[in-house]
Amino acid sequence: MLGNALQRVIGRFKNPQKVVNLCFIFVFLFSTVLTWREAVVLEGAYVANQRNSLDSVATLLDRQLQHSIDNLLFYRNAMLYALQSPISTDRTRKSLADFDTLRTQPFWQLRLDLSRSLPMSGVSDEFVNKSPLLDRDEHTLHSELSSALELSYIMRLSDSSGKMPQRMFYASRSGFFLTNTPPANDPNIVSLYYRLIARPYFSSQSLQNNPQRSLKWTHTFNGNDTSGQIVTASVPLDFNGRWYGVLALDYPIESLHNFLREAKYDDHEGTVLLYDNELNPIATSARSLPQHELFTAPQLARIANVVTAAKQGEQGELRMDSRFITWAKLNNFDGLLVKVHTLEEGVQGEFGRISIVLSILWMLFTLMLFASWMVIRRLVNNMFSLQQTLTWRANYDTLTRLYNRGAFFEIARKLSQECEQQGLPFSVIQMDLDLFKSINDRFGHSCGDKVLIHAAAMLSDAFRTGDIAGRVGGEEFCIVLPETTLEEATKVAERIRVRINTKELLIKQGNTVRISASFGVSSSFEFSDYDFERLQTYADHRLYKAKQGGRNQVCNHD
Ligand code: GH3
Ligand code: MG
Ligand code: MG
Repeated sequence: MLGNALQRVIGRFKNPQKVVNLCFIFVFLFSTVLTWREAVVLEGAYVANQRNSLDSVATLLDRQLQHSIDNLLFYRNAMLYALQSPISTDRTRKSLADFDTLRTQPFWQLRLDLSRSLPMSGVSDEFVNKSPLLDRDEHTLHSELSSALELSYIMRLSDSSGKMPQRMFYASRSGFFLTNTPPANDPNIVSLYYRLIARPYFSSQSLQNNPQRSLKWTHTFNGNDTSGQIVTASVPLDFNGRWYGVLALDYPIESLHNFLREAKYDDHEGTVLLYDNELNPIATSARSLPQHELFTAPQLARIANVVTAAKQGEQGELRMDSRFITWAKLNNFDGLLVKVHTLEEGVQGEFGRISIVLSILWMLFTLMLFASWMVIRRLVNNMFSLQQTLTWRANYDTLTRLYNRGAFFEIARKLSQECEQQGLPFSVIQMDLDLFKSINDRFGHSCGDKVLIHAAAMLSDAFRTGDIAGRVGGEEFCIVLPETTLEEATKVAERIRVRINTKELLIKQGNTVRISASFGVSSSFEFSDYDFERLQTYADHRLYKAKQGGRNQVCNHD
């Protein structure tokens, strides 16, 4: 059933080549769509992988920063408790007395306990008076100093050698500072203190600049060398409405570099970069320091455009020339983590290798499909022309190219029936070459064939469209003439006879022959009979009569 239906569908296509082409186009499109679907799934997995890998770095960094921020807030609380309820011991009283003698010196250092506390370093009254940001308030000075001396015990315990080394410090507006990486007691203290209060984090924590009194992230270029960059988290210290100073935490840029380098697990995983909120590069996982040329100004503007609307902790991705960019806003840092994955890195990575294998498979399949298409096309072509030759041979005589006996009888029967149904006349001419045997005998069989071909050509030229001729015997031909009376058919036969007899035929070099033929004509009206075989027999009788009458003539009566 299915086979028959398929054959019927295929049979509708006159040219089987079209069917082959259509089948191959379908298979090609199907395989291409399948490969494309695979590629889309692969791309989705790649994007998810890029996001996950950046997310893991962002989470690690956020956790590290959260730990540092907690420390910073802990130190501030310690200072606030100390300011609320200052303790007074012999040691603190002695230190405060020492301060009163040292405060006019250009630099000084105080220390409660040599082994358990950090030294507090400071500058002179004169230095403090020169800067509008600074203020040595006599009412609160002693309680601040004793609180800071207390803090120096706790700060001593802070660990600056962890995964991300950091510098903790308290810079007071009263002209002194405390840090977990204390300087020696020398004139450098002045420049150090000056640098501390000159950096943007300090002024950014003034009552005017930070009315919310919140934690702030600042990014400083300390000198021309990028390795001098510092990222600072800072909180103001306020008590009873007075701004005492700033507690801050410095991340030297190298520690951020190292952190990103260690957080990234694979060399083919691209480059991770940390940007500040103005999209200045801070740190990178690459071997070299962040380069400004990594993105052009319009590209940076495009990134800024996408990320400014994003909330903290949000992620996204964009494609830039041949690079795939993933970005994540950190929860604990006012900046952006960006991952740049180049095409070369992508190709060397796992997804790149799978994509290459997929493309090669598709290409191989397409090549094989193309090759088999060529072979099958040729096969089908050959079969089609063979089928056409066989069909032609089944219906035509190969020598004269007229219908053969079988095909001719079939068509003639059909035509006679049609004429009968429509009441139209139908005539038959039977033709036989005269003394043909003698041509064979004189010039050979192949020359006889030439004569047959010539006679058939004369015949075809002489009859009208609608008339059908066939070779019904060795040198016997038959012509059927639908819608033709006996008289008209006799005229046609006469015309053919004259044509055949008029032309001389060059049969061999130097030998020409003039051939003739005899004709018998019969028609349906005179016998009131439309049976083709019978009409042909009548015509054959009359042909015999024409032969009897001396050949080269047409006979249309008994
Ligand atoms: P008549 O005028 O009485 O018809 O004489 P004739 O020689 O044509 O009559 P006959 O029927 O005896 O001879 C027919 C010859 O046609 C016999 C045969 O050798 C020859 N013949 C039949 N088919 C072919 C053919 O395909 N090629 C060639 N060369 N000769 C053929
Ligand atoms: Mg003959
Ligand atoms: Mg004959």
